[in-house]
Amino acid sequence: MLSLGAGVQSTALYLLACEGRIGRFDAAIFADTGWETRATQTHLARLKAVGGDIPIHDVSQGNIRSDALDPDRDFVSMPVFYITDEGQSGMGQRQCTNKYKLRPIKREVRRLLGYPHPARIPAHVYADVAVGFSKDEIGRVGGSGRRYLNNVHPLLDLDGSADGGQGWTRKDCERYLRSQGWTEVSKSACVGCPLHGPAQWRTLRDNDPGGWADAIAFDKAIRHARPGRPGRQQFLHRSLLPLDEAPIDRVSRREWQDRQVDLLDVIADEAAESGDLDGCGPWMCRSGQAVSR
Ligand code: SF4
Repeated sequence: MLSLGAGVQSTALYLLACEGRIGRFDAAIFADTGWETRATQTHLARLKAVGGDIPIHDVSQGNIRSDALDPDRDFVSMPVFYITDEGQSGMGQRQCTNKYKLRPIKREVRRLLGYPHPARIPAHVYADVAVGFSKDEIGRVGGSGRRYLNNVHPLLDLDGSADGGQGWTRKDCERYLRSQGWTEVSKSACVGCPLHGPAQWRTLRDNDPGGWADAIAFDKAIRHARPGRPGRQQFLHRSLLPLDEAPIDRVSRREWQDRQVDLLDVIADEAAESGDLDGCGPWMCRSGQAVSR
């Protein structure tokens, strides 16, 4: 099976398997958070259209956007930025990757193995699940935390890297995708993910006005929506400004400093400009932090 995040690396794995250049997958599993970008939805539709005989299973644990705004549910599990009335600021807990990506994938793997939750899976039964880590991400490779789910990493075994060594980098995957006519594979992430870098916010604003308006509306809706914590405001942008006022266009350091934005945030945004944060993969939070399993 393939854990299909619908970004560069997992798309490369899917197409390589369709071509027979790596072992075939019985299925590819995409976990839909319910708030995927239009670019990701278009990309998935195209993959399904050309995907040959490897079925893509869409799975879901609900809609991250509506769940976050539902007063009867836990408040946003997204890592939103906050500031308290006392001036203390930070980033909220991130539970969304586990809840909306990993959980539905594990549920689907169990179902495909023939042991849907809560059936006990015999010790000898497990699935190999390919995860699209490239060798430039080798520090993030890890196990699944489940005996019935054995993570494998086919990109690390491939020859033909431009750097001459074994295993493909993200750039090798991009080169391969271009050769197959996939010139624009976006980084998959929720429309209003607080971990977007400025380039991704601009892409949303400039290419998907509906998505941008939706993210702005969500940002406004979460501002004071923390039951039991009235003295706290939440924001999607790390500047702690409303999204439609946040600094997402390229500006000089001097301008940032004039706006009194913290230097660490400036550096983070500059890093995001030169290589925007990775998309949201089930096994690797785009924050770079470990995903709790
Ligand atoms: S894209 Fe962002 S908000 Fe969506 S699941 Fe991943 S980390 Fe959470």
